[in-house]
Amino acid sequence: PGRLTLRLLPQRGSKFREDCPQDREELGRHSWAVLHTLAAYYPDLPTPEQQQDMAQLIHLFSKFYPCEECAEDIRKRIYRNQPDTRTRASFTQWLCRLHNEVNRKLGKPDFDCSKVDERWRDGWKDGSCD
Ligand code: FAD
Repeated sequence: PGRLTLRLLPQRGSKFREDCPQDREELGRHSWAVLHTLAAYYPDLPTPEQQQDMAQLIHLFSKFYPCEECAEDIRKRIYRNQPDTRTRASFTQWLCRLHNEVNRKLGKPDFDCSKVDERWRDGWKDGSCD
């Protein structure tokens, strides 16, 4: 039978396997990677339609994200602070701040939002990703 909800705990004890269903941590990491990468390659000057579409994508993502507790939390945050899709720069920064809110909630360190392009598009200035 399929799982109706996401496993809440990481695969502790067992060796990590690539071919098992995603747990909350893994899905989170992969989802942030998709979201930040979408933002990194979003147009510098999006058309009004692109701005609407990207805002819609974020709203829909928060409706279907399969960790229900996470989804509910993120819907509240997005409701208070709507996606800023006016430019690539404003959207990458908006997403970085949203992720930092979740980081704080989980007791993780803040990420320096001036470095989003290095992290998700260009690689680190020291050339370590080249
Ligand atoms: P992650 O937080 O997954 O980050 C991955 C990488 O992104 C980091 O290694 C870092 O290089 C980079 N990064 C970190 N912060 C930023 C930032 N602000 N901007 C840009 N890049 C950054 N888990 C819960 O337990 N409860 C929740 O309510 C919850 N809500 C979530 C909501 C959403 C929309 C998503 C996508 C995930 C949520 N998660 C939640 C999962 C959680 O955020 C983490 O993904 C998971 O705990 C794994 O954390 P991590 O330490 O591997 O790094």
